[in-house]
Amino acid sequence: MTAPVFRFAPSPNGELHLGHALSALTNQRMANAAGGRLLLRIEDIDVTRCTPEFDAGIFRDLAWLGIDWEEPVRRQSEHFGEYEAALERLRREGLVYPAFMSRGDIRAAIMAFEATGKTWPRDPDGAPLYPGTDKTMSRNERMQRIDAGAPFAWRLDTAGALARLKGRLSWREWADETMPSTTDVAADPLQWGDVVIARREIPTSYHLSVVMDDALQGVSHVVRGRDLYFATSVQRLLQEMLGLPQPSYFHHRLVLGPDGRKLSKSQRDTGLAALREAGETSEGVRRMLGY
Ligand code: GLU
Repeated sequence: MTAPVFRFAPSPNGELHLGHALSALTNQRMANAAGGRLLLRIEDIDVTRCTPEFDAGIFRDLAWLGIDWEEPVRRQSEHFGEYEAALERLRREGLVYPAFMSRGDIRAAIMAFEATGKTWPRDPDGAPLYPGTDKTMSRNERMQRIDAGAPFAWRLDTAGALARLKGRLSWREWADETMPSTTDVAADPLQWGDVVIARREIPTSYHLSVVMDDALQGVSHVVRGRDLYFATSVQRLLQEMLGLPQPSYFHHRLVLGPDGRKLSKSQRDTGLAALREAGETSEGVRRMLGY
């Protein structure tokens, strides 16, 4: 039997905070208990927000915490060609379409709709679903707009993709960290509407590169925070559309700030580097997290 493969996949667009520490430590503990391997993946597709300083900070903070990961580390920004090939496949199969509505257009369409007293559907993160008006645009009009240099993003035709599935879409979620058993969770990608799969200037998106990399790296266990629980629905659909294997999942608790909200990268006081500079030890951080 091959050893289970876990991964910790931070984005270098801010300082790692206590929430990341919990994720890295949980991955390490589960990988060790299962006799598995732990990979580190740098999710830096957003070249406008990721910086070499934050990237270096990830390595410093993880080493300080005592996390051991396998080399080589995969950097998503070095693999755009692979994501582009997956996008091309989705394009060829008619599963994505160029979506031309700007943020402003979307806002205006929704405001007009809601002015009638009805509520426009929102995704699990609270963002309004894409109206999808240009899903039915003719091929000619699409080509014309693209040739004219109109900005657009590739969006998944979520309903169309679901219609191609044979069975029911679900994922296996571990009951807890000790991995006693999994439950089958029904996936509902329609709650996200037609998600962005790639942008004109970046030939991928978070969802596309995550499913490609999890498959390419042979990841068998995806362990991450509960904030990404619902994202699993979209990722499972993409795995099915791209013929990729499905890992099992464990979405761990989140570390909340004093205000009861999820930590963000802008909260300096919970950043690992800031804690270290203030004299905190890595044992202290582990203790704070119950490790
Ligand atoms: N890169 C994502 C983040 O930093 C995590 C992706 C994942 O674990 O699937 O939030």
